[in-house]
Amino acid sequence: MKKLVVCGAAGRMGKRIIACALEEGGWEIAGAVENPGHPLLGRDVGEVAGVGKTGSALVSDLGGVAASADVIVDFSSVEAGLENGRAAAAAGKPIVIGTTGFSEEQERELREALKSVSAVIAPNMSLGVNLLFNLVEATASALDEEYDLEIVEAHHRFKKDAPSGTALKIGKIAAAARGRKWRDVAVHGREGKVGERNKGEIGVHAVRAGDIVGEHTVVFSCPGERVELVHRAHSRDTFARGALRAARFALSAPPGIYGMADVLGLA
Ligand code: NAD
Repeated sequence: MKKLVVCGAAGRMGKRIIACALEEGGWEIAGAVENPGHPLLGRDVGEVAGVGKTGSALVSDLGGVAASADVIVDFSSVEAGLENGRAAAAAGKPIVIGTTGFSEEQERELREALKSVSAVIAPNMSLGVNLLFNLVEATASALDEEYDLEIVEAHHRFKKDAPSGTALKIGKIAAAARGRKWRDVAVHGREGKVGERNKGEIGVHAVRAGDIVGEHTVVFSCPGERVELVHRAHSRDTFARGALRAARFALSAPPGIYGMADVLGLA
């Protein structure tokens, strides 16, 4: 049995990670961390996740439970993700960070803090999306800037960051495939008299509605035709199972920062 500590354990993703870990077997829930002041602190995390008692109560500090972890998984918030990354490194524990929304500076800080442990940092843990990244790279280099490239993502009404970490990664991959820097070609939404589209720009658009789990559409179009690459997540379990796969990978990988392409053998 491998000992798993989940940060953001009472959140949408945290609960599914707990449930999927127990369903898969081979995992013991060694700790469940939540926001200090969370109303469910002290409650058994299995009960919170709706899968029965685990014997692990929600606590407010990763520092107190990190020592008992074989591996830590974090799906929380930007601030908590940074703090939990530092705590994992201080305890010398492997960690998987699925949290999104870090600025470039914060992500640099996180990578620097985690240098001494094995860490998987990935904005999307699904196999399908990671395959989509490869398809975007191939398509963006095969179809040159005569093909306008636009990214449309859609998520549930509670999502805090926009555009999604996945959309940003798609944009960066597509820009790099065309020999461009994302910051030079990115156009976030359009409003007002923006004029004609500039050749080479990459538009990114965020839809927030209802309970959409996560959808990404990448449009390549020139006069006469359009290619669309689409991924739709039907359930959070696709991310939860990917996170557990990443956790198993981190358990045996030498210290270093990895992405899902490494975990899934798509690199
Ligand atoms: P959520 O708001 O439902 O859950 C986040 C949880 O973190 C909340 O319960 C919150 O109380 C908790 N939290 C806040 N501060 C904390 C702290 N200091 N310590 C511990 N826990 C703390 O959000 P969610 O939908 O579960 O998503 C969480 C994060 O994961 C977001 O950044 C989201 O974009 C990202 N996400 C990533 C993937 C992926 O595949 N990488 C998939 C889905 C969501």
